[in-house]
Amino acid sequence: MNLNITCIKGDGIGPEIVTEAIKVLDKVADIYGHNINYTDILMGGCSIDAYGVPLTDEAIEIAKSSDAVLMGSIGGDTVTSPWYKLEPSLRPEAGLLKIRKALSLYANLRPAFLYKELKKSCPLREDISDKGFDLLIMRELTGGLYFGERKTENINGEMVATDTLVYSESEIERIARSAFEVARKRQKKVTLVDKANVLDSSRLWRKVVDKVSKDYSDVNLEYMLVDNCAMQLVKDPSQFDVVLTENMFGDILSDEASMITGSIGMLPSASLSDGNFGLYEPSHGSAPDIAGKDIANPIATILSAAMMLKFSFSLDKEADIIEEAVRQALSDGYRTTDIKDENTDKEKIVGCSKMGDIICGYIK
Ligand code: NAD
Repeated sequence: MNLNITCIKGDGIGPEIVTEAIKVLDKVADIYGHNINYTDILMGGCSIDAYGVPLTDEAIEIAKSSDAVLMGSIGGDTVTSPWYKLEPSLRPEAGLLKIRKALSLYANLRPAFLYKELKKSCPLREDISDKGFDLLIMRELTGGLYFGERKTENINGEMVATDTLVYSESEIERIARSAFEVARKRQKKVTLVDKANVLDSSRLWRKVVDKVSKDYSDVNLEYMLVDNCAMQLVKDPSQFDVVLTENMFGDILSDEASMITGSIGMLPSASLSDGNFGLYEPSHGSAPDIAGKDIANPIATILSAAMMLKFSFSLDKEADIIEEAVRQALSDGYRTTDIKDENTDKEKIVGCSKMGDIICGYIK
């Protein structure tokens, strides 16, 4: 199979972790006879430095003409980096919002699961972590507060800021369908998380999702208010399968969900549009504090590449082999510093590049 992949290495640790994901993809392609063509584009701070904007229209066109996008992460230290002295529409994150909108990446999938090998890193009480969990946050990515009209104005001598939260039936319906489709391949349960006791937009979500659920009678639908969900994620995350929610709630809950796995460097994500197109990136940021030191954990990016093979190319077997190689590396005791504990064999604490090599070694 021919795979045309756009690569956004980005800033900070981005280039280091994407290099390892490419190493793993190339190994799989070699074994299974696939031909991968990578085209690099700039986004984030590196694009600001080169072109004065976080993402050029030419870069978007390259991404559009490919089959999928593999991304590291973008941005710098938000206090010291000169990129954050620029006006908001020129900062690194504006590139991310622009590409999501331009490629219509409306469904963000973030799995959060606990590897039994990493239980010690889980900050939850032992009786909770012992039960394990495997959930997926399905976050709407191109609507809601982050894309609504906003303004700050002087009214009667004081500054007043307004952000607007808008959702249409069609925007809700398309992501609801994605959530039910994904749930069908998992534990067949969708929990819609909202604030329907207060917000009109949430009440519309409930109405539309309820209607869509009639086409998926094999999937169980539950409702939960977002404040309760934040609490339930630390009390009993094993109750969740697919958590469906709007943009801002999803932003916050997915960070909480990643934290309870105890390992921000482990979690992949996919942002999908209609059809097979998607952008795949780790859940974490560009970690400028450890950039260039070869100590970043590349596993989230490697697992994002596995999601890409599954969702954009239907190469399930190849994706499973990558996931299994990661599991083997962990079970044989290999750790980057972010996931080591007091029992880790010092010889098995490895850097970013070495972890990529070790995972490749398990792909046979
Ligand atoms: P961050 O996720 O980059 O880092 C938080 C902490 O986790 C840091 O201590 C970092 O060293 C550590 N960490 C993150 N990824 C790691 C990995 N793979 N291996 C080992 N340790 C890892 O979050 P932040 O510090 O809040 O943000 C830094 C920059 O990243 C900011 O500019 C922010 O805007 C940007 N950011 C980008 C994305 C994206 O590209 N999608 C997402 C989130 C944040």
